[in-house]
Amino acid sequence: MRPLVWFRADLRTADNSALLAACKAASDPKSNGSGRHGVVGVFLLAPDQWQEHDWAPVKVDLILRTLAELSKALAALNIPLKIIRADRFADAPKALLKLARACGCDALYFNKEYEINEARRDEAVRDAFEDEGMPVHAFTDQTLLEPGDLRTTEGKWYTVYTPFKKAALARLGDNGGVHPQPAPDKQAKLDIAPDPVPDSLPEFDGLRRPDLWPAGEGAAMDRLHKFAAVALDSYHERRDSPATAGTSTLSPYLAIGAISPRQCAAAAIDAEPRALDPKPRRKTGPSTWLSEVLWREFYKHLLVGYPRVVRGRPFRLDTEHIEWRDDPEGLEAWKAGRTGVPIVDAGMRQLAATGWMHNRLRMVTAMFLTKNLLVDWREGERHFMRNLVDGDLANNNGGWQWSASTGTDAAPYFRVFNPVSQSRTHDPDGTYIRRFVPELADVEGEAVHEPWTIPGLLRGGLDYPSEPIVDLKSTRERAIEAFRAIKA
Ligand code: FAD
Repeated sequence: MRPLVWFRADLRTADNSALLAACKAASDPKSNGSGRHGVVGVFLLAPDQWQEHDWAPVKVDLILRTLAELSKALAALNIPLKIIRADRFADAPKALLKLARACGCDALYFNKEYEINEARRDEAVRDAFEDEGMPVHAFTDQTLLEPGDLRTTEGKWYTVYTPFKKAALARLGDNGGVHPQPAPDKQAKLDIAPDPVPDSLPEFDGLRRPDLWPAGEGAAMDRLHKFAAVALDSYHERRDSPATAGTSTLSPYLAIGAISPRQCAAAAIDAEPRALDPKPRRKTGPSTWLSEVLWREFYKHLLVGYPRVVRGRPFRLDTEHIEWRDDPEGLEAWKAGRTGVPIVDAGMRQLAATGWMHNRLRMVTAMFLTKNLLVDWREGERHFMRNLVDGDLANNNGGWQWSASTGTDAAPYFRVFNPVSQSRTHDPDGTYIRRFVPELADVEGEAVHEPWTIPGLLRGGLDYPSEPIVDLKSTRERAIEAFRAIKA
């Protein structure tokens, strides 16, 4: 037997369910009647489709560099990685079949993806392979539990996070915990050469930050180990301080599968076995971190249960009637980090400069756009996706709908963050602001949070907006009124 393993958002050799199963099948003497043996890997480059999905250049760059590392790691196992350009998902069935025939493959293995276009593509590929008599094996790998497996006592999908989390922890406990698998054993050499991995794609000319985002599963595991050694224990205390390295920064690696959610969850449980307790007596670093990994899980499950959220529709259907404002100038100022509200601008500039933004800032900037500017959350969702190295449809949509109060278990519409209070609480000495808004680097003391309070003459010397682009108090009330209006 010679399985073809189709890599997508699972760019690693360790704890990769499809790869492991394929290697096991290929090495099973009972399955080797065909005389062919060995696993072949493939990755499809789909630049047109990725552009349509708003993938950021910084994310595509990380993918290409990770593919180069994956190809090396697979070559060490004698598994050749083929790279095919199939511009759109619709081209996938033909491209994969052609490769399978050329390499003498007789089965297809992959890990499931849950977004609508991805799931449709996979169905078409399945049909094409089965029509040719080649079995297709799909695995649950992107999530700890298969979406849909967890249901309420009425058999419904969970739409509130806390009960979902309790149910997920209980199920993981019942399953005996979380046990990531090692990479497969080396196979006998094949007469098939790996393909070169392109350094770049012309469609994705833009930010590249290999210094911040080193590639490969080894780099991702190093990051996990360092985080577990240094910051995991204090995660619950430091995760909301954007000036410190209090979070794992593993999201880009989870988004492309250079690390698995099982490897992450296992690190939390190893550090503290009680992290699996659905009713913990106290909050700790590992249990809080596991909760965040489960927010990712929650949003992925929701995407399958409520696919309308990824068709551009809100989870809460009444919010379709919100009258969002058309404010191109405000939107541009927000994107450029020139709103005149330092904490908002610092967040937006962190995104532009690094491809990543701290979670607290994602909430603050998203609230500012959707509440103070009352601009449609879909504008923000798209801009984030186009710039994030960790762009992930489910998490990004979930985060935007949470902030806009249109989502499930979202921020209540009347609890609008005041960005200045957020700034004082989470960046008390302004270190984060000064790092990303250099115009304010020399502003002393509290004024860094609201430079408009600096006396006029002194403020004139700053190359920074003299006032916020909107009045924070009246725009907050306007947003609450807009939500109240739809209730009425
Ligand atoms: P840690 O704090 O170390 O958490 C570990 C992992 O848990 C993360 O890597 C991530 O996979 C998951 N996680 C953490 N917080 C959340 C959360 N609130 N929701 C879902 N999963 C979470 N995350 C993305 O991965 N991709 C996105 O495109 C994305 N867009 C977002 C947009 C908005 C408006 C908001 C409010 C949040 C968004 N998030 C997104 C969630 C969160 O901000 C990031 O996952 C987190 O900042 C990544 O940093 P980290 O890896 O250091 O996280």
